[in-house]
Amino acid sequence: MPLDLSRSQALFAASQEVIPGGVNSPVRAFRAVGGTPPFIERGAGCRIYDVDGNAYIDYCLSWGPLILGHCHPEVVAALQETLSRGTSFGAPTELELRMAQKVIDCLPSVEVVRMVNSGTEATMSAIRLARAYTRRSKVIKFIGCYHGHHDSMLVRAGSGATDLGVPDSPGVPAAAAAGTISIRYNDLEGVEAAFREYGSDIAAVIVEPVAANMGLVLPQPGFLEGLRRVTREHGALLIFDEVLTGWRVAYGGAQAHFGIDPDLTTFGKVIGGGLPVGAYGGKREIMSMVAPSGPVYQAGTLSGNPLAMTAGLTTLEVLGRPGNFERIVALTERLVAGLNQVLERLDLPYRAASIGTLFGLFFTTERVVDYETALTADTGLFSRYHHAMLRRGIYLAPSQFEVGFMSLAHTEAEVDATVAAAEEALREAL
Ligand code: PLP
Repeated sequence: MPLDLSRSQALFAASQEVIPGGVNSPVRAFRAVGGTPPFIERGAGCRIYDVDGNAYIDYCLSWGPLILGHCHPEVVAALQETLSRGTSFGAPTELELRMAQKVIDCLPSVEVVRMVNSGTEATMSAIRLARAYTRRSKVIKFIGCYHGHHDSMLVRAGSGATDLGVPDSPGVPAAAAAGTISIRYNDLEGVEAAFREYGSDIAAVIVEPVAANMGLVLPQPGFLEGLRRVTREHGALLIFDEVLTGWRVAYGGAQAHFGIDPDLTTFGKVIGGGLPVGAYGGKREIMSMVAPSGPVYQAGTLSGNPLAMTAGLTTLEVLGRPGNFERIVALTERLVAGLNQVLERLDLPYRAASIGTLFGLFFTTERVVDYETALTADTGLFSRYHHAMLRRGIYLAPSQFEVGFMSLAHTEAEVDATVAAAEEALREAL
């Protein structure tokens, strides 16, 4: 049965007249999988509901932030309470202090933290700070890693840029991109070679400690440790971009999982509990260069916004209660085990994988270790699978090169229903 998306279609057509591509962030337009994106009316628990009356079990969760699911009652109640006292003051609040203390409690590498409004702002600010601290200009990033859409990072990026096939965006000045050295993910030798060539010019290495914007790509053993070693040897900073992995790979982020101590860390998504937020933090000596305690300028009208702090703090508090994070991990593992059984039963050579509360499934027989190997995936098969899942009430991120997210609101029953749907969907998609 095809989905009835007639109202979504009408809204999408109208939106395309007044919003670029009809959306406020490219991947939402479903270009990678084709068809009409369902227009969402509301969410509750692990489900979202579109304007056409269709319900979906949601594994996108606003691209990760909603780790407690939609409209978690404690988040909603806390937001209502904060809302009744005002939406923004542009003056310091106790909520910001509590948020900073919470982040510092969760991540030993962070001694001082600054709130911003998006992951893009977080990485942009961390890179500026790294350049100021080291008095160097070049930055190493990895091909297929996405760190937001500011100029110096929009070079061979993943995420939406992967789908559109324009990793290098027009409008990025050559000079801004020139300071960015792109290296294959997991290629430690490439990093060492770059340091041999440009060592005294390299301010920082920025990395997604688990790459999750080209599909789910795990760091190979020794890769992150190698980055830590080589940056220390050359006096460069190591920036972990944990916008996506923070409170997802482990409660303390990928750095807790892998036992690495980065100099700076960037945050977003879960830390805002579904409201617009980002943050960057790290060693006191480095962070003390940020204005007004130091000369590196960075500011924001809405930074530390009370509603965002409330949603984020409540989310982190609920997530931190005994057993909650472990429960989401167990659900993720159950889903992946179920998917792999299906793939075996259908005699398909693909395997799903997970780490923490993130999961991925590449339709390729290659061992995916970087962007190049990720791109061998069969995107046509993914598109057919995606739509077959959507028709069965399962909402996956609309691209082969994105990951899946689990929440506390999912249950075993919903996970098992998803596995059953996947079996039917794969049979249909092949
Ligand atoms: N860094 C990573 C690892 C991300 O996954 C993202 C967004 O997906 C960003 C940075 C940018 O965050 P935002 O979309 O909030 O600007």
